[in-house]
Amino acid sequence: MKFNTKTIHGGQEHDPAYGSVMPPIYQTSTYAQSTPGGHKGYEYSRTHNPTRNALENAFASIENGTYGLAFASGLAAIDAVIKLLEPGDEVISTNDLYGGTYRLFTKVFEGFGIKFHFIGMENAGNIEQYVNDNTKLIWVETPTNPMMNVIDIKATADIARQHNLLLAVDNTFATPYLQRPLDLGADIVMHSATKYLGGHSDLVMGALVVKDKELAERLYFIQNASGAVCGPQDSFLALRGIKTLHVRMQRHCENGKAVANYLASHPKIEKVYWPGFEDHPNHDVAKAQMDDFGGMVSFTTKGNNYEEAIKIVENLKVFTLAESLGGVESLAGHPASMTHASIPKEEREKTGVVDSLIRLSVGIEDEDDLIADLEQAIG
Ligand SMILES: *Cc1c(COP(=O)(O)O)cnc(C)c1O
Repeated sequence: MKFNTKTIHGGQEHDPAYGSVMPPIYQTSTYAQSTPGGHKGYEYSRTHNPTRNALENAFASIENGTYGLAFASGLAAIDAVIKLLEPGDEVISTNDLYGGTYRLFTKVFEGFGIKFHFIGMENAGNIEQYVNDNTKLIWVETPTNPMMNVIDIKATADIARQHNLLLAVDNTFATPYLQRPLDLGADIVMHSATKYLGGHSDLVMGALVVKDKELAERLYFIQNASGAVCGPQDSFLALRGIKTLHVRMQRHCENGKAVANYLASHPKIEKVYWPGFEDHPNHDVAKAQMDDFGGMVSFTTKGNNYEEAIKIVENLKVFTLAESLGGVESLAGHPASMTHASIPKEEREKTGVVDSLIRLSVGIEDEDDLIADLEQAIG
């Protein structure tokens, strides 16, 4: 099955009870048993729920994996991956990271004795010097948030394999429409399904997809033991979102390209970060591992003025000033004061999150309206 068919049918069966085409919302916590243990595969909804299972099968299908797991949020999914580790274990992670991931790693898991190395991975050759006997996991985000750095998944997977490490890739920005990390050698794909997979800014959810049965069983154990699962209603909404992922992504990519090109030609703009530009430092890797360049675009203004950046985001009318990304509507954010406020100023500036940086999640509205909005806001 090809991708555009998988988003609609992948892992899905019509409901056996009445043949409903969409999986019913099984809004139940528990299931009747005829005799102790005599049930139809479902006992309790933290462990299994038919609507959630349908979604988990869809996740596995679109990422070319075998096993999917749905969580209450993207961070709950990341939390489950780190719980595979033990005190003393070490993780090598991308340095330009979603702020909440950085907070979870440093403020929660470092306290449990897990050590994180945050490094620039744009050159995969950097990674090996941080590998030691305690290293268990490489954590990659690509393209990164919000600097749009691109990391070579295949080269990183080769290093992980050589040293017997797990490789997990946060595929939230790219989605499987653009890149499929498991095909490139990753062990775990993670999503904030809150973003493009859900696609309509109406739910918070996380996903993991793996191929290996033993790894899947360990993660299912953690999912059930820790209990950060999503409910049936949200599972239904995410399934509905995934059905249009390919058409939405196609438009996100077209509009993202138009906005990136417009900004690059604007006299007040200092720099535009978008992996589709030929002078993007890892454009060749992006071209090789992604099918297109996505709808996320970041930029800075000349003079790097904090107040001016705030003014621009306040002036936008079609773009909504809001956290999050990946919905049908265009959003703008100011990372230094919003998503990355939890990262110390010196740390964030090292990775390029300067005061004037603005991040756009380019939606699927009409391209002309988006550009006109930027024109009036930037001035
Ligand atoms: C939003 C996001 C997360 C966290 O997901 P939640 O669903 O908000 O918990 C993780 N990684 C990336 C890249 C994100 O954009």
